[in-house]
Amino acid sequence: MKINVLDHQTIDKIAAGEVVERPASVVKELVENAIDSGADAVTVEIKEGGISFIRVTDNGGGIEKTEIRNAFLRHATSKITSAEDLTDLVSLGFRGEALASISAVSMVEAISKTEEDLTGVRYVIEGGMEKELEEIGAPNGTTIIVRNLFYNTLPRKKFLKQPQTEGSYVADLMEHLALSHPQISFHFIVNGQNRFHTSGNRDLKEIIYRIYGKDIAGAIDEIHVQKEDFAIDGFLGRPVINRSNRNYELFYINGRFIKSNLLSKALEDSYKEYLMQHKFPFCVLHLTIDTKRIDVNVHPTKMEVRIAGGQEFYERMRDIIYDCLHMREMIPEMTFDKEQGRKDTGRDRSEKESVPEPFEVRRIKQEKEMRKRPESGHAKAAEPAPSAEQSENVNKVPAERKPDRNVVHEPARYAAGGKQAAPLQQMELFDDKLLSEKAREHYEIIGQLFDTYWLISYQNKLLIIDQHAAHEKVKFERFMKQFHAHSIVSQNLNPPVVVTLNGKEKACLLRNMEHFLALGFVIEEFGGNDYALSSVPMDLYGYQEAELFYELLDELSEETGAGTPDGIRMKIATSACKAAVKGNTRISHTEAEALIDELLSLENPYNCPHGRPTIIAMSKYELEKKFKRIVT
Ligand code: ADP
Ligand code: MG
Repeated sequence: MKINVLDHQTIDKIAAGEVVERPASVVKELVENAIDSGADAVTVEIKEGGISFIRVTDNGGGIEKTEIRNAFLRHATSKITSAEDLTDLVSLGFRGEALASISAVSMVEAISKTEEDLTGVRYVIEGGMEKELEEIGAPNGTTIIVRNLFYNTLPRKKFLKQPQTEGSYVADLMEHLALSHPQISFHFIVNGQNRFHTSGNRDLKEIIYRIYGKDIAGAIDEIHVQKEDFAIDGFLGRPVINRSNRNYELFYINGRFIKSNLLSKALEDSYKEYLMQHKFPFCVLHLTIDTKRIDVNVHPTKMEVRIAGGQEFYERMRDIIYDCLHMREMIPEMTFDKEQGRKDTGRDRSEKESVPEPFEVRRIKQEKEMRKRPESGHAKAAEPAPSAEQSENVNKVPAERKPDRNVVHEPARYAAGGKQAAPLQQMELFDDKLLSEKAREHYEIIGQLFDTYWLISYQNKLLIIDQHAAHEKVKFERFMKQFHAHSIVSQNLNPPVVVTLNGKEKACLLRNMEHFLALGFVIEEFGGNDYALSSVPMDLYGYQEAELFYELLDELSEETGAGTPDGIRMKIATSACKAAVKGNTRISHTEAEALIDELLSLENPYNCPHGRPTIIAMSKYELEKKFKRIVT
């Protein structure tokens, strides 16, 4: 057998598979290079999901003419010189294989200029073969255009999904990148249309606003924790914006977007009592950890990270987030105002001179025209600073400041002109939490509305408590407290209540018998399909036990797959509490007072066990505005 030594193009093509899987991986590598180059503005443009066209333009350090060939050679990197450097890695790239791999499987055009040079360089390389190398005029920085990905590796091309799907992967990636570097202005263009444009003014909340919109940006709380060996900065979503998948659990370690089961678990466990089933928190968390404690060199795409001391780290993270959540008032605040479009922040525009756009003359011109129209919306880092007159006007126009409809918390910092508009107080600014002993002396129960809601005045707010949710919550908490303290108190039913179960219910009961017993139920066979309920948990006593029990089994049998014992007990407890408060509408003023007192003494009074809010608030300010006592 003859052993062939493969030529470098073939080697590159094979190796490319590791780094370049799809358009999103190309964009990732190119943007990481742009970031590593010190750019503070990066534009990414894709067409056909990035399959036919990807352009990444930065205003960073550029590549010297004499180096451009080297940049496209495998294992050519300016970022490390030996393996020792890996432990102190600060740059995103280090393998020196991205450009080589990308150019092996596509048609690449690179244009670059360093600040020191008067002219730039243009380099064309297709399928690993150099096509052109010439000196040209160019702005400082680098543009890489990647055309026709996998044009010479058709089997790989077949694995690509529809352009729309590939494009959505790129969009996800761009969102993650923009959030990972608040100091960099990112401009993302899809098929000639602006998708988002961040300002690069370091304001993470503003980026969240630009990418996810006002509802999310209005329902997040800042977290900032500095420990001896690590720091956490970012935002935690309130329960109202819990998501139905994990895609919005965004973690960054030292500026790198990562996936980590460890961190997800820490987050979810700390949110446990705020999460409905199959719901996940929203968060953007930046962790700063000593590079020696983490290993990013696990996979070429560098998304998975190993953290030294995993279990201990998990526990600390969980406790920190838990504490942050419990320090906050979680009462969603309602406003009356109508929907309004996103508003320009008008801030920091002057900070940036220009976004690098060497080939985009026509589009820039179009944008300039758009800008003349006041409602054009998004802030452009590239925009010139508004004239003094313009910015004054912005500050005076009241419409600019109106809070949004149904915004839980108006992100006050988005007010025009960058001033704190302070139309709505954020609950977190309150000195006294509603829960404190002191606060209790100051709230007043006004009465009940629609047989369901209790109105309470407190400080300058109207609080509205959902009696059902509150009741359920209080019961559930009592129940779980006893359960955790192993002091469930049961109440004998005399005579026992006999229930007749169908096959499904019976199977469900038998499967979960030990959990029922653990929660304080005593259930005995009574012949055939009959079972005798001779004891129920104290808190459920007197609540039409038979119906309650049927309902419980019903809910429980919906459950697919086996949960953890804790999960199952939690489920039984929540269903039981829900069933218990059902149909129990009118309560007296005294009962309500007791209920509300108990609710407010809980560590987390803000959500019922199913995650629905128990309390909402409306400020005096909102009311006064509605009655036009205040004109903003
Ligand atoms: P790596 O990033 O791992 O070093 P790459 O193949 O991605 O490897 O890039 C090779 C080299 O090309 C980099 O080390 C850097 O010197 C240079 N380079 C690539 N992209 C840029 C850019 N946008 N700006 C400046 N230099 C770049
Ligand atoms: Mg790189």
